Amino acid sequence: MKVELTTIELKALELKDINNFNDKKCASIMSISVKEYNDILNKAREKVTKALIDKDEINIIDISVNDEPKCTTLCKFRCAICGQIYEIDYTKEDIKCPLCLSSKIMTNEEAGFLK
Ligand SMILES: [Zn+2]
Repeated sequence: MKVELTTIELKALELKDINNFNDKKCASIMSISVKEYNDILNKAREKVTKALIDKDEINIIDISVNDEPKCTTLCKFRCAICGQIYEIDYTKEDIKCPLCLSSKIMTNEEAGFLK
């Protein structure tokens, strides 16, 4: 049997386990709510663990949300201290506010980024 892991689930695992970002940052980068992020992450971990236990092959399924271009590394954040909205490439730079240099960010819900 094969286990199918979507590119979105893979991204959720990467941000948490490779980049070591907290839930707020992971959710911001993926433009989803913290709850949605946790649901995706839990599902992804369940699939990977199950594949390891059953020695199943993992197939990566390439999907993008709403036909938008695939998740870019340029992400929008809102500072939790001063409210400044800024965009940075999280793979190249530290996630911190250009104004007050705080690394505290709002969730997408708090920042009003979710539709
Ligand atoms: Zn700030």
